[in-house]
Amino acid sequence: MSDKLAGKVAIVTGASSGIGEATALALADVGATVAIAARRSDRLEALAKRILDQGGEVLSITADVSDEAQVKAMVQKIHAEYGRVDILVNNAGVMLLGMIDGANTEDWRRMININVLGLMYATHAVLPIMKAQGAGHIVNISSVAGRFANAGTGVYNATKWAVGAFSESLRKEVYQNNIRVTIIEPGLVATELPQHITNPSAKERARQFYGSVRTLESEDIAAAIAYAVTQPPHVNVNEILIRPTEQER
Ligand code: NDP
Repeated sequence: MSDKLAGKVAIVTGASSGIGEATALALADVGATVAIAARRSDRLEALAKRILDQGGEVLSITADVSDEAQVKAMVQKIHAEYGRVDILVNNAGVMLLGMIDGANTEDWRRMININVLGLMYATHAVLPIMKAQGAGHIVNISSVAGRFANAGTGVYNATKWAVGAFSESLRKEVYQNNIRVTIIEPGLVATELPQHITNPSAKERARQFYGSVRTLESEDIAAAIAYAVTQPPHVNVNEILIRPTEQER
């Protein structure tokens, strides 16, 4: 453990698995108090125990980021508990791949509600707190898919493109308030993300794509996030794109 983020409070959404879980551990490891949020409370409790066992401070909150009222209540609870919010990692996301023609449009709504609106609700809820503090850092998890589109990934691409556009606009609105904005764009990371794809052929394509390279681990992305949020206040790391070495597109 180090104390680079001692006294800082970080929220990590989607902390019940994968990149969010690794990020919560990484930020706790550098001294942050971590508020961990997701829908699966049993997974959050297990993670909270690991953080506590490592000597960290943690608050777990069961919340669905696609529900604005739940997101507001989550941020209010954290603020009431600790009196500040220094870092928000907007990580919760789903990747429900499939061709546009013939798609189940419910998948589209879920992706837009979680990947885009969820991230926007959380940002909206923390901004007044960060402005009043005169400092803050918002880290938005996009993807290589936020920079390069392919057949069969269009709506996921659209949600991650939206994250990029929103983040750059946000940066221009809040840099004078000493609020930093970082976009993280991972390539293939070994998590449960592709397991939730509902379209069988898209799921099989994703399985083959993930299986074709030595993927990144969640900890590789968590390390990039920890790097971005531990820079001195005058350094605004705006964008980090990380692919596995073996990934071409
Ligand atoms: P996981 O499926 O392991 O994690 C996704 C997390 O999001 C889970 O903790 C899940 O928790 C949470 N989540 C999903 N829906 C909701 C919701 N409605 N409300 C609150 N939390 C929710 O995948 P990853 O760790 O891979 O994904 C994390 C982020 O990284 C995503 O934004 C993804 O798009 C992005 N990414 C991942 C890549 C990869 O290859 N793995 C590549 C590029 C980007 P719960 O179900 O408990 O709510």
